[in-house]
Amino acid sequence: MVKAAVMYQVRAPLVIEDVDLLEPGPGEVLVRMVGAGICHSDWSVLQGKIPIPVPAVLGHEGAGIVERVGPGVTSVGPGDKVIISWRPHCGRCFYCVTGRPNLCDAATRARFQGTLFDGTTRFKKNGRPVHHMAMAATFAEYTVIPETGAIKVRPDAPLEKVAVVGCAVITGVGAVTTTANVEVGATVAIFGCGGVGLSAVQGAVLRGASKVIAVDVLDSKLELAGQLGATHLVNARREDPVARIRELTGGAGVDYAFEVIGNPEVMARAFESTRRGGTCVIVGVAEPEAKLSVSPFDLVLQEKRILGSLYGSLRPPVDIPRLVDLALEGRIKLEPLITRRVSLSEVNDAFERLVRGEAVRSIVTFGG
Ligand SMILES: [Zn+2]
Ligand SMILES: [Zn+2]
Repeated sequence: MVKAAVMYQVRAPLVIEDVDLLEPGPGEVLVRMVGAGICHSDWSVLQGKIPIPVPAVLGHEGAGIVERVGPGVTSVGPGDKVIISWRPHCGRCFYCVTGRPNLCDAATRARFQGTLFDGTTRFKKNGRPVHHMAMAATFAEYTVIPETGAIKVRPDAPLEKVAVVGCAVITGVGAVTTTANVEVGATVAIFGCGGVGLSAVQGAVLRGASKVIAVDVLDSKLELAGQLGATHLVNARREDPVARIRELTGGAGVDYAFEVIGNPEVMARAFESTRRGGTCVIVGVAEPEAKLSVSPFDLVLQEKRILGSLYGSLRPPVDIPRLVDLALEGRIKLEPLITRRVSLSEVNDAFERLVRGEAVRSIVTFGG
């Protein structure tokens, strides 16, 4: 039996309860959780905006220590510190062999089924399956994940902190450095300064962007963006961000704009704020039925580009350890992303704070 935060229905509090956890199967790993970040996507799942079969153990960002491994596992062993990747990969499909494991066929299928790769769950309640969010299910004292979702990190990595590398940092930094491939001196605007947006700010700083314009509706988040290297802060509640971005860029607009909220209206503003020949990168996850409305005239006549970015277009086994190195060298700052630490029983309260904008990231800690 392990304690977990289980979603039974849409728009109802998670139930903190004991569930059964089976042993890891072939190619699977049992992880004792140390820290799990509460991400806006968990809230979107709970609101029914991102579909998942229920009941399900939520949570997709986290870090822990390998407790036991199933047959055939070779890349990690008991005692290893791991960050959990919510895009494990099969290594054999079209996307995996063409270097885009973040789009893995098998992972996409399993994610919608709420299972592991073999189509079944390791969590059970009264003999019935309890699903896994994104093959991670980090809101539990212990979880079973695929071997390729357990990314071994250096032994001196503080797990409660580097937990945020597994979603916020890889998604935000990668969107800038890899999906967009922002070049030195480029101008960048980032719409939305939660955990992913603040990581995108840091990615733009790492890439040597000349202007990093942070846009949000909360001054507290803009202040954090400023601390992390944003050169200009725009409160979209007080001023029109598109007009302000044009003003800041001599009337042209930015080379790259990132939408990190999941709101189609804001995506359209991000598109409008890019210069002729500019690129708009969509990182925020909108509802499946949502539509994006932009000017096709501008798209062609101004030769703009719109790119989607999933998990920063990165390759977790290579890039997560690199991001941890950057964090431990102080070149990516994790602490400003972490507002508070909570226990698993406080997870519903932490969601409320997230929605009210009081917290960037709360980290569930498991006392070990
Ligand atoms: Zn997330
Ligand atoms: Zn694959």
